[in-house]
Amino acid sequence: CGIVGYIGKREAYPIIINGLKRLEYRGYDSAGIALYDGSQIQLCKTKGKVVDLEQRVEKEISIKGSVGIGHTRWATHGVPNDVNSHPHYSNSGDLVIIHNGIIENYASIKKELMNRGYTFTSDTDTEVLVNLIEEVKKTEGVKLGKAVQIALNQVVGAYAIALFDRNKPDEIVVAKLGSPLAIGIGDDEFFVASDASPFIEFTNNAIYLEDEEMAIIRRGREVKIRKIKNDSLV
Ligand code: GLU
Repeated sequence: CGIVGYIGKREAYPIIINGLKRLEYRGYDSAGIALYDGSQIQLCKTKGKVVDLEQRVEKEISIKGSVGIGHTRWATHGVPNDVNSHPHYSNSGDLVIIHNGIIENYASIKKELMNRGYTFTSDTDTEVLVNLIEEVKKTEGVKLGKAVQIALNQVVGAYAIALFDRNKPDEIVVAKLGSPLAIGIGDDEFFVASDASPFIEFTNNAIYLEDEEMAIIRRGREVKIRKIKNDSLV
């Protein structure tokens, strides 16, 4: 029930793992992380505690990335196990997402996506959302931020999400409705988290997203905040 993300110039892993520990008070049953070094994405997730995740990361993650997302899960759709833990990939393997909250209409979206040939490895509503974003991106031929916006307009539920695209090493997209989401703005680096505690020692410049807001965060550039509904994206 917590999310942490980083995009900047430092190694993302220590920031994310320490951030997840600070969010442990929110309660959770599983934890996971995805790191991206600009050419490779590596993912590690497990049922259990953040310390269990730390041990697995030592064995399973071999890259050092300056982009990453981490998650603690409070299962709502699908039992707590390794496969249902976040992050989740889209079918192409290009998109990686973490999500706190519930997608209420996931079953009908999942059916529609399965009709279009999508397959699912987990029982989560989250894996449905990341594939909906992928499908919108492909069929509409739009950028990631726009695809997230269009997809979220088809979704009923509550969420704080963070995702990135293997083809866009300098960008993280986040969105919020119901669950909290803070963005920390540093010097050429950005932090994302459920509250400011994961990034408090790095910056005191924080933006708290409002419900139905999303942000496109570009390394070395800016944070573009947009309304999910009724707002155009460049
Ligand atoms: N609904 C999602 C799941 O069950 C996210 C749960 C959460 O908020 O951690 O995987």
